[in-house]
Amino acid sequence: KVRKADTVTHLKDKILNGERRALAKAITLTESTRADHQAAAQALLADILPHTGKSIRLGFTGTPGVGKSTFIEAFGLYLTGQGYKVAVLAVDPSSTRTGGSILGDKTRMELLSKDPNAYIRPSPSGGTLGGVARRTREAMLLCEAAGYDVVLIETVGVGQSEIAVADMVDMFLLMLSPGGGDDLQGIKRGIMELADLVIINKADGDLKAAAGRAAADYKGALHLMRPKYSGWTAGVVLASALKQQGLDKVWAQVQSFEAALKEGGELDRMRAEQARAWMWSEIHDQMMDAFRDHLPTKLSQVEDAVKRGEIPPTAAARELLRDFLKK
Ligand code: GDP
Repeated sequence: KVRKADTVTHLKDKILNGERRALAKAITLTESTRADHQAAAQALLADILPHTGKSIRLGFTGTPGVGKSTFIEAFGLYLTGQGYKVAVLAVDPSSTRTGGSILGDKTRMELLSKDPNAYIRPSPSGGTLGGVARRTREAMLLCEAAGYDVVLIETVGVGQSEIAVADMVDMFLLMLSPGGGDDLQGIKRGIMELADLVIINKADGDLKAAAGRAAADYKGALHLMRPKYSGWTAGVVLASALKQQGLDKVWAQVQSFEAALKEGGELDRMRAEQARAWMWSEIHDQMMDAFRDHLPTKLSQVEDAVKRGEIPPTAAARELLRDFLKK
């Protein structure tokens, strides 16, 4: 027990000192399913909490191929060039670390990964989206404690993971390609509504003219949507990750956004609400885990009986819950 406390204090000091190896170790601890690791990780997170919250948290989404990795690398390098420390995280519930992981792919973000002022961490692998999202949130807090000024979170453009990322960042940036109107069909309206900024990437070469038209289309589409905040209207920025163009414009938008939301305390309120919602999703997940672990045999028997139509689903749920709550 003494050793656990030692480890936590030791790691905490090194993280606050900005030591990357300690940061990596701490993130690994939060990702471990071992009970003692989890206990140490939670103790550490409680300890570092007062040192979190100082970064700007940005979420990036867009369909595969739109240029997210290229953009995040270029933007990350732009920011380190401005003297900021940048952390890059990812939420990809399909990632397996060895294969599918976007950021795990060593050939990606090669330059940024060599930058001493950048820290890149691939998506935690496996598990439910809720589990992956929790571990990314915790990694974000650890990065903040380690002094990173900007946290960039990449999501694969797949349904629920986009919402999970939007729920953990300050600003949600949607990347689109110059496909214009055709593209608009493929983007779920709900994702457009989540966007605080639209970036039309690949606004270069032959695609430049199309990008300009697409920008006008999206501006029109955004104009019809109900604004998320009183002080901010989502705009459209043209960029080329490949040519490193428009990065300054995106950063200017990010800074205006933060300033607009800080005024009147909207940013603090949003973060407070995110923390509250996170707690409830933890309660949900931990209760479900405990429920499934409790009397698994009976659970599958009752499940079968419901499938055969022998017990009504509501009555079955009541009985199982009664059992569970009695334990
Ligand atoms: P992701 O799947 O969204 O992460 O997309 P990638 O970053 O892997 O980029 C997909 C492809 O688009 C790659 O071949 C990139 O070189 C290319 N690409 C990315 N950004 C740009 C850009 O700004 N302009 C052009 N022309 N191509 C780009």
